[in-house]
Amino acid sequence: MNLSSQADESVDVLVIGGGPGGTPAALALAQAGRRVLLVEQGDGLGGTCLFEGCIPSKIFRESALRLHAADRAGEFGVGFDAAMKPAIDWQRVLARKRDILAARAAAALHNAQALPTLQIVRGHARLLGAHRAEISLPGAAPRGLRFAHAILAAGAQAAQPALVGSDLAGVHASEQLLSLDRVPDSLLLVGGGPIGVEMAQIFCLLGSRVTLLQGRERILPSMDGDLALQLQQRLQDSGIDLRCGARAQSIVAVPGGLRVTYSDAQGNGGQVEAQHVGLALGRVPRVADLGLEHTRIRHDGKGLRVDAHLQTDEPDVYAVGDLLGQPMFAHWATAQAQALAAHLLGKPAAFPKPEHNSAVIFSHPEFATAGLTVAQAQAAGLIVDTATYDYAIDARAQIGGETGLLRLVFERDSRRIVGVHALIEGASDLIGEGALIVRHGLTLEQLAQAIHPHPTLTESMGVLARQTLARLQGLATHAHHPVP
Ligand SMILES: Cc1cc2nc3c(=O)[nH]c(=O)nc-3n(C[C@H](O)[C@H](O)[C@H](O)COP(=O)(O)OP(=O)(O)OC[C@H]3O[C@@H](n4cnc5c(N)ncnc54)[C@H](O)[C@@H]3O)c2cc1C
Repeated sequence: MNLSSQADESVDVLVIGGGPGGTPAALALAQAGRRVLLVEQGDGLGGTCLFEGCIPSKIFRESALRLHAADRAGEFGVGFDAAMKPAIDWQRVLARKRDILAARAAAALHNAQALPTLQIVRGHARLLGAHRAEISLPGAAPRGLRFAHAILAAGAQAAQPALVGSDLAGVHASEQLLSLDRVPDSLLLVGGGPIGVEMAQIFCLLGSRVTLLQGRERILPSMDGDLALQLQQRLQDSGIDLRCGARAQSIVAVPGGLRVTYSDAQGNGGQVEAQHVGLALGRVPRVADLGLEHTRIRHDGKGLRVDAHLQTDEPDVYAVGDLLGQPMFAHWATAQAQALAAHLLGKPAAFPKPEHNSAVIFSHPEFATAGLTVAQAQAAGLIVDTATYDYAIDARAQIGGETGLLRLVFERDSRRIVGVHALIEGASDLIGEGALIVRHGLTLEQLAQAIHPHPTLTESMGVLARQTLARLQGLATHAHHPVP
């Protein structure tokens, strides 16, 4: 990263953190002519998402899925000569990851450098007051800076569990799992949230023997329950040893690996041994060492306190992204950043609302969500009904050899759709339509009128809307797709 060491003494906006929250905010403000200084302590622009999160995990997943597809090739009438069995070339996977990350980081820096009023500094920034900060540059004396506004976008880090033995060699947080120099023979993952589930399936498909300990009664507790249970079954069917209601208590080293002791709600429990242990116990906002103690900014264990305009308790200091706590997603951080930049430029700003958010768990099959689950809708005081589509009857799913479910959550009276949930390989792209539907409050009738191309997964949206309207009108519905 070609970073300047010449920080201005005074800037319009200081941005701390160059991830999906900080970078778009800095770009948008500099594009409008503001003098912006972006300070990033890591290797380049991209944050957790590029270097340790979204992108590397999906690169591994892509290799794992291609191996899996080769394993399934016979199902589709594709054979290998001389019984050739596909195998993973891990060094090639790691090299591919390095290349993609480097290309994306270089492109991000190139975009940023094209803006004359944006200066990027590699260093660590901390606040010294409401309009002052200090920047520690590698190998140089700290520099003072004055700013009119600051945007804090320092992200989050893996939660450090109070788990005896979590500091042993072979125990990894998610970012270290994405840098292992070989595929482990066996891996025990602690935590059945998005990261734990994604990692469990990736390494299982890559050939590791995987155990997943989940403290709660099912995986992915915040997602639609029926779809999560179907995914849970898929995990088990694929050979993952899933133990729900199992809380890890301690880890000890044993010959050849590690032994994890866990307990269940009844006070019983057990032990599992594995070569490596991965901890996926959530992420906590990175509030330490930001100099918050020199300001009026308040935070609790869940994140910084901000108002509806992302303003902290210090009027000229704003914050975005993981630093604010849940939801922690790259696109959410970016949506906040774009709205905040517009707000600071005095333009109309649509600050994102949680009930319009979308997200994908990159499990296999993908599990995508937009808007509210039934439980969330009820908690918000809405009276809702659901409609469910089984991809067993779907042309595109049959062609791809996939199964899964689609669920719409809609208000009983208005038929406004408030939630779209899909468990099917391809749901990550399908859910873009779901995001549009919930953001603009479309009704079942409006969805039914859209013409979806055949044979695609998106067709399921229109079919389900039409089936549901027919059901509500007391008409007989056809169990099968009307298009052959
Ligand atoms: C394994 C994994 C997989 C994930 N997969 C997905 C996914 O598929 N989709 C998705 O939407 N999200 C995913 N996420 C979450 C996503 O990475 C985060 O939500 C996103 O990166 C948050 O952006 P941010 O800008 O708030 O923080 P970050 O991306 O964490 O960026 C913060 C930056 O601030 C820098 N920084 C911190 N303190 C200072 C300081 N004092 N001075 C200077 N620099 C500082 C850090 O070095 C960092 O680069 C994943 C996360 C993990 C861990």
